[in-house]
This record gives sequence, C-alpha cells and structure tokens, in this order.
Amino acid sequence: MSERAAPFYCPYCGDEDLRPSEQGHGAWECAACNRAFQLKFLGLLARGLQRADDGGDGPA
Ligand SMILES: [Zn+2]
Repeated sequence: MSERAAPFYCPYCGDEDLRPSEQGHGAWECAACNRAFQLKFLGLLARGLQRADDGGDGPA
C-alpha cells in the first residue's frame, strides 16, 4: 500500500492551490484559505470492495 495520498481540492474551501506542509507526514496547506490539514489512511472498510448495488434500499 502506497503512502501517497494527495488531495486534489482543499476540503474547506475547494481550492486547488495545495502544497505539502512541513507539519508532518500527510500534512497539506491550502494557499487560498490558509488552512492546514492532514490526511490519514484509516484502513479498509470491513465490507471490502464489493459494489453497493446489492439490492439494498438505495435511491431508485
Ligand atoms: Zn482552502
């Protein structure tokens, strides 16, 4: 599993002007709103990689 997890958009303002932060691993800074945030991989979901169309009560 790769450690690369690069966000494409700021989760707070939606801007694309992101750059790696020196705060630590997985930390990014948004030049548009001056926010710093950190991405962290929590693990795989228990339900695995099966598709979501397993006859549930989803929309339509
Ligand atoms: Zn931002």
